[in-house]
Amino acid sequence: MKKRAIVWFRRDLRLADNPALCAALDGDFDTVVPVFIEAPDELGDEAPGGAQRVWQHFSLAALAADLEALGSRLIIRRGPSADALDRLIEESGATAVYWNRLYDPHTIERDKRVKAHLDDQSIETASFPAHLLYEPWTVSTRQNAPYKVFTPFWKAVRDRPVATPLAAPSELPAVWDRIGSESLDALGLLPDIRWDEGIREAWTPGEAGAHDRLDHFVDDVLGRYATDRDRPAVLGTSYLSPHLHWGEIGPRQVVHRVEEWLAEHGRDGDRADANTFLSEIGWREFAHHVLYHFPETPERPLDTRFESFPWSGDDEGLARWQRGTTGIPMVDAGMRELWATGYMHNRLRMTVASFLTKNLRVAWQHGERWFWDTLVDADLANNTLGWQWAAGCGADAAPFFRIFNPARQGERFDPDGHYVRRWVPELANLDAKHIHAPWAAPGKALADAGVVLGDTYPEPIVDLKASRREALAAFDQVKK
Ligand SMILES: Cc1cc2nc3c(=O)[nH]c(=O)nc-3n(C[C@H](O)[C@H](O)[C@H](O)COP(=O)(O)OP(=O)(O)OC[C@H]3O[C@@H](n4cnc5c(N)ncnc54)[C@H](O)[C@@H]3O)c2cc1C
Repeated sequence: MKKRAIVWFRRDLRLADNPALCAALDGDFDTVVPVFIEAPDELGDEAPGGAQRVWQHFSLAALAADLEALGSRLIIRRGPSADALDRLIEESGATAVYWNRLYDPHTIERDKRVKAHLDDQSIETASFPAHLLYEPWTVSTRQNAPYKVFTPFWKAVRDRPVATPLAAPSELPAVWDRIGSESLDALGLLPDIRWDEGIREAWTPGEAGAHDRLDHFVDDVLGRYATDRDRPAVLGTSYLSPHLHWGEIGPRQVVHRVEEWLAEHGRDGDRADANTFLSEIGWREFAHHVLYHFPETPERPLDTRFESFPWSGDDEGLARWQRGTTGIPMVDAGMRELWATGYMHNRLRMTVASFLTKNLRVAWQHGERWFWDTLVDADLANNTLGWQWAAGCGADAAPFFRIFNPARQGERFDPDGHYVRRWVPELANLDAKHIHAPWAAPGKALADAGVVLGDTYPEPIVDLKASRREALAAFDQVKK
């Protein structure tokens, strides 16, 4: 008898190194039906934000085209997921549903429910590891507890072998015409008012775009990653984060590509750059490990002392931070880059998050939410870890008393002021010496550059030194 399988695509929008797809093709099935089910309600507050939805639209379009090129077709349905799978099982006569695992709490709960529902109908189910290098439950401390600190976590796993990525299929079985699909446009993922132009210009969502990024990174950037990764004016990082988030490329593929490049082209010193980069992939693993074991952290601090932190509730400060009009150039540049492109350099993410939670004392959850809606790479595990790290209340957090000075950050990591000039053009003519602290610039330097504080560019919203002292005093209250 002919058997058919459904491959349920979620955030694994790729054909290569896709174990669920490979298992279905290797199994005893004569047809494989690829489906994506749009069911944001099942993810609660963690449904994709605005920028992610734009990405999702173009990534699904790319996957649909890639499937068609191999003779198949992407079926798009609307949730609830269990109902959509029921209908597809009925229409296709499928006897099995395969998918790749995800690790955020809402998806885990949903997948458990769907699996139990399919088991009840004697539909075969199987899930596979594709999103991470190491399953979160396979890593624990000697006391059999989850890790809360990055370095020992990474030490424990980094030498484990990484499975060789699976090749993409060269052809796929056709999906019968009578199995209907929603149109991608009907999902309404793109905004009505097209604010997404900057995102479309800056990125190429989809599997091919992800591999182009990786190739460019490995060939041209990796050999100087350790030094350039901290300089926001330079293209010194991989820009793989949204591709990894949507699973257009998997971490095993990234690790293998880096190792191959080292073996073929590596020079003395490249190993150090590669290890620094691989440890960032390790931070992604760690973030997922923490989210899996502490699923409450998207809302609540891991360090529970911070539940009673005296946040300021400064709505005006939050609004100016969001708009990039705080009068602190590095902060404004980062926030404007985010708004224009859906991305912000890591050095800036740390700087703006420290500024919001410490100098403005706005609760980290507000910043986390803004990033969630505006980042194309918004990722529950990485965003939660990043915000709690910056606020001093999470796993491996920077101690609260280490408060980034955004002017100093600018002087160190954007010494020529190129990054600020690009995103804060009002300051473009100010010399490098004063561009990161225009409030301290002599009147003549400002006048020569055409800057009038409070008119062409805001006065700083807070005094950096005084607000730092206030943050430390607030921290004293929770320490007790
Ligand atoms: C407040 C804050 C919020 C953040 N929110 C997110 C988020 O929503 N989504 C996201 O992917 N990253 C987030 N990060 C982590 C980091 O800033 C981005 O992953 C990185 O800037 C993406 O650029 P890249 O791909 O060029 O990074 P690269 O330097 O090339 O790093 C390669 C990959 O490693 C992973 N990675 C790098 N740094 C980290 C890190 N600190 N934590 C976890 N994974 C990391 C990413 O998947 C990244 O694509 C956040 C950091 C902070 C401080």
